[in-house]
Amino acid sequence: MIPGPFEYHSPTSLAEAIDLLGQYGDEAKLLAGGHSLIPLMKLRLAQPAHLVDLNSVPGLDYIHEEQGHLRIGALTREVDVEYNALILDRYPLIADTARVVGDPLVRNMATLGGNLAHGDPANDHPATMLALRATVAIQGPNGERVEPVDDLFVGLLTTILEPDEILTEIRIPVPPPRSSGTYIKLERKVGDYAIAAVAVQITLSPDNSVVQAGIGLTAVGLTPIRAAAAERFLIGKQLDKAVLQEAGERAAAAADPSIDLRGSAEYKRAMVAELTQRALMKAAARVMSNGS
Ligand SMILES: Cc1cc2nc3c(=O)[nH]c(=O)nc-3n(C[C@H](O)[C@H](O)[C@H](O)COP(=O)(O)OP(=O)(O)OC[C@H]3O[C@@H](n4cnc5c(N)ncnc54)[C@H](O)[C@@H]3O)c2cc1C
Repeated sequence: MIPGPFEYHSPTSLAEAIDLLGQYGDEAKLLAGGHSLIPLMKLRLAQPAHLVDLNSVPGLDYIHEEQGHLRIGALTREVDVEYNALILDRYPLIADTARVVGDPLVRNMATLGGNLAHGDPANDHPATMLALRATVAIQGPNGERVEPVDDLFVGLLTTILEPDEILTEIRIPVPPPRSSGTYIKLERKVGDYAIAAVAVQITLSPDNSVVQAGIGLTAVGLTPIRAAAAERFLIGKQLDKAVLQEAGERAAAAADPSIDLRGSAEYKRAMVAELTQRALMKAAARVMSNGS
């Protein structure tokens, strides 16, 4: 299908992009990788009169650690996250997530900022950023605000971003020693959106009890979900069979899945319980093998 008519804008600075968004308000949409927005426009589910393309705005594409945080520019492509040496070495949860987003064609274009800003609970990075307790930097006409990723998602395809605001950076606290994580996604076929997926990030003490736990759930609610009760339950415990099972059950209880072609609510909850246990075991094995 062919999108409706729109005027195309290509600002060369963040200030110009924010100005354009302010000028056209609800009539405008930001364009990043285009891999969520353009399909919606082709289906005429989105019909913005103005497209404000972020791709000529410099300085939004980077991955580095600074002041205790991993900082990822919003325009960083999935492919650059997937193969980044720092991420592969110290943030395996993010690497695991990037490599299961769509297919290589999607990952060449899709951006991390777009994956979060779209507010789709079936997207993979939101749960991961919940598990990592990330914050997002948002620029608007009144300057920058920094918000916990927990507060970003308010409903299906709905975030706290105002029409004239741009998500510019994702900030992830540098994990303490003996931390690791993983993302496990159940999909109908390679490249598909998740039936359900679980992101886990843990820190273990020298005797292998859990010091910190982050658990995020994908595609089992109207927003990505933090499995807070499971996280709390894990603190101070060693990951034996009973603890894993209880954590899985608590994570499943946090899920609120809908019934669709990917399965019943009961099935998806059962998958969350199972994936949570597997992810906890894999994350713990990673800590014990190399500490990251
Ligand atoms: C075939 C296919 C398979 C896919 N499979 C998966 C999958 O398995 N997992 C997955 O997670 N995703 C999947 N995607 C979605 C893909 O990852 C998207 O590209 C991503 O969700 C959005 O990123 P984008 O850069 O393409 O954003 P765009 O499509 O350009 O924008 C999406 C929305 O976010 C807004 N936006 C973008 N950037 C910003 C910003 N910096 N600040 C404020 N608002 C912004 C736009 O205005 C728009 O409303 C798939 C897409 C396709 C086409």
